[in-house]
Amino acid sequence: MAHQFPASIRTVGIIGGGPAACTLAVLLTRAGLRVGLWHKSKPTALIVGESLVPAIIPMLRKLGVEDEVRKYSTLKPGATFNLSPEIAFSFFFENLQGLPRYAYNVPRDRFDATLLETAQKAGVKIFAASAEITKVSGTDRVELSPATLAATDGFFSTQPDLIVDATGRLRLLPNLLGIRGIEGQRKDTALFAHVDQTHLDHEGHVHTTRLDRGWSWRIPLPGRVSLGMVVPAEHLPQFGATKEERYDNLLKQDSHLQIVASQAKRVTPVMEYTNYQLVSERMVGANWALVGDTAGFIDPVFSSGLFLGMNGAFLLAEAISAGSEAALLRYESKIKHHLETWHGIVDYWYNGRLFTCFKVGQKRRDTLLVKLIFPHMNKHMGRIFGGAASNSAYSIGLLRFAMKYGLEDENPDEFKVR
Ligand SMILES: Cc1cc2nc3c(=O)[nH]c(=O)nc-3n(C[C@H](O)[C@H](O)[C@H](O)COP(=O)(O)OP(=O)(O)OC[C@H]3O[C@@H](n4cnc5c(N)ncnc54)[C@H](O)[C@@H]3O)c2cc1C
Repeated sequence: MAHQFPASIRTVGIIGGGPAACTLAVLLTRAGLRVGLWHKSKPTALIVGESLVPAIIPMLRKLGVEDEVRKYSTLKPGATFNLSPEIAFSFFFENLQGLPRYAYNVPRDRFDATLLETAQKAGVKIFAASAEITKVSGTDRVELSPATLAATDGFFSTQPDLIVDATGRLRLLPNLLGIRGIEGQRKDTALFAHVDQTHLDHEGHVHTTRLDRGWSWRIPLPGRVSLGMVVPAEHLPQFGATKEERYDNLLKQDSHLQIVASQAKRVTPVMEYTNYQLVSERMVGANWALVGDTAGFIDPVFSSGLFLGMNGAFLLAEAISAGSEAALLRYESKIKHHLETWHGIVDYWYNGRLFTCFKVGQKRRDTLLVKLIFPHMNKHMGRIFGGAASNSAYSIGLLRFAMKYGLEDENPDEFKVR
């Protein structure tokens, strides 16, 4: 990527050491900027965001990390959705057009370490500490505290031209500046741990399963399976007082998990997440920008979080290289549009319309109409869920059309997530 940087943005301070932060740091450093990154390690090796989509692979190649990621990851050739013990839909990436025909399931601690090391090798200055940021009173500007600036030992002799918040769901700058996040409607809780084994319909596939209430993911990783449950918050107390009790009891008592994970033994502590749909009202300001989950995040059902975060880092690098306020505002509007589109796509999972439409397509597969339109629809649906076309007006228009008119007389409640 050729960058021409204006004199005004020559130095950038990035806070956070996750995938979005490291991706941005590598791209800006390669383009000749002076980049410092503050990284505070996560308190646990157990990090959500382990299943990738094919559209992330070209980004891994550009960063030069795919070979290393492949060594410790599980190859992901597709995705399976178990809607009931009897009904499943499996999708194979080998049929995707214009995208790699695979993705990976990654142990996140190792994936994050690879990206951080890549940033360091590219010449990013890593500060293994939490940065302290303050608001410049009466302005929209932020700055490093005198102590944080001094601790750079002269790497930044003055304040960096731009400060980027990539602290993930902690949202350091939005909290400091009072920037609202618009949350989604569902109030679910995700409980997440690794187990030793589960049943899998297809090796390497991420398996998404409707539960009695909510849904679960099974992500095969080397030697274990990541198993998470996304459940309405009010449903949980009946399963116990602690998150461990709730996880273990749900595993035993949910009628679908009893079938697919009856032998599973938990091998890690349980992590709990709430609120996972948010779009930040603002993403850029006088001398700051937000990237990755800090800018916004979506429900994890289609494994698109890391793709959105890293793609956001590529877009922000381009905007910084363009070096104008208009470019930064364009970045903001692209990210908002992308997140809002994904919120709509995710709704089709929860309201049952997505798989009701697939069911109709399967039932009618011998009719001329379906024979004619199915390959075209299939191509665009694959590109949306693979990540490549989730911002394409045509593909999304086609999806919306299918969700509106493609259900015939089927009731989507059959596949609704309760
Ligand atoms: C339940 C759940 C399941 C998910 N499943 C998937 C999935 O299967 N696939 C997928 O692609 N995505 C998934 N996601 C989304 C994915 O986890 C995130 O989108 C992704 O991790 C965002 O990357 P990021 O770099 O923006 O932030 P993060 O990965 O959160 O990184 C932020 C980093 O900043 C550091 N930090 C925070 N504060 C400071 C500070 N003050 N100073 C210095 N460092 C700091 C943190 O320690 C952390 O390392 C899931 C999310 C949830 C909630």
